[in-house]
Amino acid sequence: MKNRFQSGEEERYHRQREHMGAEQLFNRGIRSEHVLAAMREVPRHRFVPPEDRPLAYADGPLPIGKGQTISQPYVVAAMTEAVDPAPGKRILEVGTGSGYQAAVLAATGAEVYSIERIPELAASARKVLESLGYAVHLSVGDGTLGWAGAAPFDGILVTAAPKELPPSFAEQLVEGGRLVIPVGALDQTLYRYVKLPDGELRAEALFSVRFVPLRKGE
Ligand code: SAH
Repeated sequence: MKNRFQSGEEERYHRQREHMGAEQLFNRGIRSEHVLAAMREVPRHRFVPPEDRPLAYADGPLPIGKGQTISQPYVVAAMTEAVDPAPGKRILEVGTGSGYQAAVLAATGAEVYSIERIPELAASARKVLESLGYAVHLSVGDGTLGWAGAAPFDGILVTAAPKELPPSFAEQLVEGGRLVIPVGALDQTLYRYVKLPDGELRAEALFSVRFVPLRKGE
């Protein structure tokens, strides 16, 4: 039988990913099969600088260049679970960064849109996503405005923290749609909002987090 891995290195990363799924995700309460499967599938090591690859599946955040970071695997999984992606659902991510979170969303079968303000990060994310075969719609610009041309979305996942919730996200959600977003300056809380029939958002605080700031209009 042909080996399904290209090299011993890929096989080692695969084992580390399985271990990450069991220890860091399942054992801490991540239960969505869609999310667990996506986290086991996406090669996180491909989204970080080569020198950080040995730590790609460790229980912490990682630098991705330009002073930005990818969240720890548990936070990526918990946010993905909270936004509840599924085949056919349309999900907007704000803050593409490395493209890792976008790949995890795409691996669940969702139709993914993602916006990044730093052109160099968007360009390298595009390259990695294409080379791995994840079809994600990418745009460079100010994500605080959402993506009006592709709205409405079933879910919006924001991976940088505004001090206060920008209004465009609620406007661009369908009724029943979910917005998952860290809010705050130094003390940030991750929230899940659900859009109610009257257009209001119902808030649910999930846990404390630490994200880079969502920068407006630059
Ligand atoms: N989700 C990313 C990590 C995001 S780090 C990943 O999986 O790798 C936060 C990102 O949000 C950074 O890349 C930062 O440049 C971006 N960002 C900050 N403010 C933004 C804005 N207004 N619009 C779009 N992207 C923004």
